[in-house]
Amino acid sequence: MNIIDGKKVSARVKAEVKAEAESLKAKGISIGLAVVIVGDNPASRVYVNNKKKACAEVGFDSFEYALPAETTQDELLALVDKLNSDAKVDGILVQLPLPSHIDKNAVINAISPEKDVDAFHPQNVGHIMIGDYAFLPCTPAGVMELIAETGIEVSGKKCVVIGRSNIVGKPMAMLLLHKNGTVTITHSRTRDLPSVTSEADILVAAVGKAGFVTADMIKPGAVVIDVGMNRNAEGKLCGDVDFEGCKEKAGYITPVPGGVGPMTIAMLMRNTLTAAKMHNGCQD
Ligand code: NAP
Repeated sequence: MNIIDGKKVSARVKAEVKAEAESLKAKGISIGLAVVIVGDNPASRVYVNNKKKACAEVGFDSFEYALPAETTQDELLALVDKLNSDAKVDGILVQLPLPSHIDKNAVINAISPEKDVDAFHPQNVGHIMIGDYAFLPCTPAGVMELIAETGIEVSGKKCVVIGRSNIVGKPMAMLLLHKNGTVTITHSRTRDLPSVTSEADILVAAVGKAGFVTADMIKPGAVVIDVGMNRNAEGKLCGDVDFEGCKEKAGYITPVPGGVGPMTIAMLMRNTLTAAKMHNGCQD
């Protein structure tokens, strides 16, 4: 059993981003991320604080817009519009979920694709589909970094993704496919899920149910990546994988916390750097 250390890999990615940000700064280019939060969802507040902290770590400016829960959709769209044309802002992130009176898709679609560092805009989703993209979908891209860390090639491997959400499951499957994995996407209507997952050389769980993946569902020696971020009965953060039960059988496994979570933020920093380079005409 090998535990993949997401904190270590994310620190490495952030150090690379920081070094590039410093060399841009030396040319007079500063990098800015606008983070918009609507309402007072405590989990969203934690995510926003972590993103601001990461910006400070890598030397980006962060601009927080904390709006009250009763903000109207038009008010939010007006803010997005303003940020789209603000030269100090390279990336715009609207923290999800939004209050139910706001149409999430209308907001995502309003963000300029060049500043869409979450890669949720349909234009960027299309780019990911065809494998020609500037912005990586943050969580799946973080998972790919963690798989790369094992030294195991994705090419030709049986890869199973549990979950088909637009932000994790579907783009995850695409990135594995681009690396020539043989990919199966599973979901709540999949029949006999354990028979599918136990064939996987690489298993990615993005279900949102604590301890959902048990040892009988994994192949001996598999790479098991846990995207889940759930709270157990004691309120403790835990993943979708029964870590204790699976750790001896898996070849490689990610813990929660300390696995995929830190990678998502590191990838967001990398996307913001990419956006700044695009806006300043200094792409590689
Ligand atoms: P989501 O939109 O709720 O999607 C969950 C997926 O799991 C759905 O496709 C659903 O299938 C599938 N599912 C539910 N029950 C199932 C079952 N019994 N068997 C097989 N599949 C089942 O969730 P999400 O946004 O993708 O997030 C998934 C998890 O990842 C959550 O815990 C979330 O907090 C976490 N997350 C973590 C990060 C990070 O940075 N670490 C980032 C994003 C999300 P149907 O489509 O059929 O309903």
